[in-house]
Amino acid sequence: MAGRARHERQPLTNFSDFGLNKNLLQALTGKGYTHPTPIQAQAIPAVLTGGDLLGIAQTGTGKTAAFALPILQRLSTSASRPPKSCKVLVLAPTRELASQIAESFKTYGKHMGVSVAVVYGGVKYGAQTKIMARGVDVLVATPGRLLDHLSQRTIDLSHTEVLVLDEVDQMLDLGFIVPIRKLVSHLPKTRQNLFFSATMPSEIEKLAGELLRNPTRVAVTPVASTVELVEQRVVFVDSTRKRDALVDLMAEANMKRVIVFTRTKRGADRLAEHLDRAGIDAAAIHGDKSQGQRERALASFKAGQSRALIATDIAARGIDVDNISHVVNFELPHVPESYVHRIGRTARAGKAGVAITLCAPEERGLLRDIQRLTGLDLGAGDGPGGAQAPRGGRGGQQQRPKQAQGRSNGQHAPAGPRGPGQQRGKRRPGKGGGGGGGGGSGDFGRLAAQLSAPRSDRSGRMNPN
Ligand code: AMP
Repeated sequence: MAGRARHERQPLTNFSDFGLNKNLLQALTGKGYTHPTPIQAQAIPAVLTGGDLLGIAQTGTGKTAAFALPILQRLSTSASRPPKSCKVLVLAPTRELASQIAESFKTYGKHMGVSVAVVYGGVKYGAQTKIMARGVDVLVATPGRLLDHLSQRTIDLSHTEVLVLDEVDQMLDLGFIVPIRKLVSHLPKTRQNLFFSATMPSEIEKLAGELLRNPTRVAVTPVASTVELVEQRVVFVDSTRKRDALVDLMAEANMKRVIVFTRTKRGADRLAEHLDRAGIDAAAIHGDKSQGQRERALASFKAGQSRALIATDIAARGIDVDNISHVVNFELPHVPESYVHRIGRTARAGKAGVAITLCAPEERGLLRDIQRLTGLDLGAGDGPGGAQAPRGGRGGQQQRPKQAQGRSNGQHAPAGPRGPGQQRGKRRPGKGGGGGGGGGSGDFGRLAAQLSAPRSDRSGRMNPN
């Protein structure tokens, strides 16, 4: 069917083919997982051999189960652990991701009686110290807080058999590489190392080279291709009109569970207040919120009490909420990879979703960076200010939406009251076919009509070839 998500599953492989024990298989059946995702199909057999692994995969690919399942299998045959120790240490960049990983271990290991602790900053030490005192099978931690525990001798890492580093690129962004090196120096030399990152800049490649021994390398959905699962639209709108534009968009019944990305924490708070005033229940989540506030915001979003979750990039990374109907980029990210991470929130585990980017004229350059990364034509144009320019290296031509063209000439788009132009993502010529062709136009009324149209009526989904 035109426009349906391409499920990157490998139907010939079953979880039972991996030799996982019946407790794990039972938990997977309970979760309703029928087939492993590609990262699982590649990583599980490799990890079960006991060797090191370098996984290039981003969130949404099923990578947590890719390491959690073989680790749990290993734990089912391993001896008991001493007090204040852990057999498996998982390091993650954010508290949300750490909690999520811990939850996954508990879910998959629920018929095995596995003990799991999660440790992160921003909360008191007491409860964490207490749970680690008994010794745990799996400890999931953010690096800073774990270092504190090490210095207080409330944890001893000398019995750790497996080290997992998850979302290493984000740990690098957050300045955790030095803490990671310190933590690693407390681990036994002989251990299994599993290393996951969505991207592999040279600094991460170097860290992987230091930590891993003869790793099996597995890579799935390169950062630029996951976006094919998401239907992408760009609405060209002045920054002063973005809030109203968002309120208009949220009036659509199909905007059921929406993550809205802002660039700043203050911007997230202000936008949540604006939506609330407009009668749209919204909650903001970012690094300045207390742990309790973050948990409450997430819980109300998950329960459907708030329809919109306003988030900054870092806060959103570890959030695993099913059935996000839309991702809205209220502001474009400065780093183009963040765009892919953001829109990936609505395409979890092969599901489809819609991403809407509100692009102000001054953000065109950022949109062009995203086009370059993803190979998609999002209507930014190539030349200064979106002006059309021959597309040298890619050898194709750009067809800009009429309204984007009008606005780049300083005219008002011939649209409704707010007059935004809009463009749907197209595979750019020379990057895998798909025909190009702009054709996005219309006001919010038309945009809304298109958003609620059946998928087969929409031409915006990327050509998966
Ligand atoms: P992750 O990339 O680990 O954050 O996983 C993304 C989402 O995919 C989570 O909501 C998982 O529960 C879900 N998931 C993981 N493995 C599978 C699978 N084999 N089939 C269906 N969903 C899965």
